Amino acid sequence: MRDEPDAKLAAKAREIYDLLVEEYGIPERKSWDPMHELLLTILSANTNDVNSGRAFRTLMERYDGDYDAMRTAPLAEIKQAIRVAGMYNQKAPRLIKTLEMVKAERGEYNIDHVAEMPVAEGEAYLSRFPGVGHKTASIVLLFSFGKPAFPVDTHVQRLSQRLGISDPKASPAKIKGIWESGILGQDAKEYYVLHINLIRHGRAICQARNPQCASCRLLAICDYGQRATSSD
Ligand code: SF4
Repeated sequence: MRDEPDAKLAAKAREIYDLLVEEYGIPERKSWDPMHELLLTILSANTNDVNSGRAFRTLMERYDGDYDAMRTAPLAEIKQAIRVAGMYNQKAPRLIKTLEMVKAERGEYNIDHVAEMPVAEGEAYLSRFPGVGHKTASIVLLFSFGKPAFPVDTHVQRLSQRLGISDPKASPAKIKGIWESGILGQDAKEYYVLHINLIRHGRAICQARNPQCASCRLLAICDYGQRATSSD
């Protein structure tokens, strides 16, 4: 049975959610086909959304969306198609291996059965694919299947630490566990909204090197911001 979330932490999580919605609104959930999302997340390691998106589009256009053609294409050709995403020497074999695994297990290129799995099971299943860790597995679960998994990227990690949702040195896995413990409830729609808005805020205001605490909507409830501005 799940432990009751800490009431103070839950109140803070709710305030963060509400303030970020006031600032950035409710983002519309883009729902990708699960196989697309899985391949896209493999491409997204250590690069930005623009470059991984470009690499994915090039790949799909080159093979006309034919996964069999992609799986059996020469490795060098796949590397060339995804070059813009960087780390193509690692990512190309990961893509091919993933297609091989899905085809061997399911007889087709389809992971829709994950929809029937609880979050932990879905995460364990997806993490078996090469290049898929808890962040990318959570993205597939949340974005494609609408499940209450909380992806923790570098922005979400930094903001969670600074705001005091976690301790200042908590790992991404620890932070994911805190968000998924129920401090914000278990509504996947809200997980999506908060995930996107934390990233927006991390890019716009709470940058890694130079957070703009004095003009931040979250200052009153932020541990780091309170320390930073009180010592000015
Ligand atoms: Fe980031 Fe500062 Fe805002 Fe806290 S107050 S969220 S550290 S910008």
